Amino acid sequence: MKKILIIIFIILLTTCVFAYENYTTIKILSHKHNEMSYQIAWCRAHNGIIEYENFDKTRVDCLTELHAVEFDFYNKWAESIGQALYYGFMTGKRPKVVLILENPKMQIIYYNRISKLSEIYNFDVEYVTNDILNLDKNGKCFNKKCKCYRL
Ligand SMILES: [Zn+2]
Repeated sequence: MKKILIIIFIILLTTCVFAYENYTTIKILSHKHNEMSYQIAWCRAHNGIIEYENFDKTRVDCLTELHAVEFDFYNKWAESIGQALYYGFMTGKRPKVVLILENPKMQIIYYNRISKLSEIYNFDVEYVTNDILNLDKNGKCFNKKCKCYRL
């Protein structure tokens, strides 16, 4: 009987540890503002077309006079390069990644990775921070549809 209790205890404990790990991972990767909020702010400032549709139905986050721009949070840095290159190819514009850094000090390493590759593979990159969102004193951004209004 004691053995069974110990086994049940171990199972419960490991389940709890797994649940906690999943919880913290989700917490780390959940962003305060939608990608779309950064996209709208940047694209308006650069007179671009938001969500420009290619003939194959893929969508460019922002198409400007010079660039096909892909927006992503820092954790999707690798993916952002592939998408920017593809949208550049589809539109004939120069590919550009705009990387979103919510915490520039911690996340600048991801921008640096892209920056190195951009010199070799001929595309552009810049990063934006929450400064672009024009946050009010409660930390809400200009975009009323953003999830910061649902917290
Ligand atoms: Zn927001």
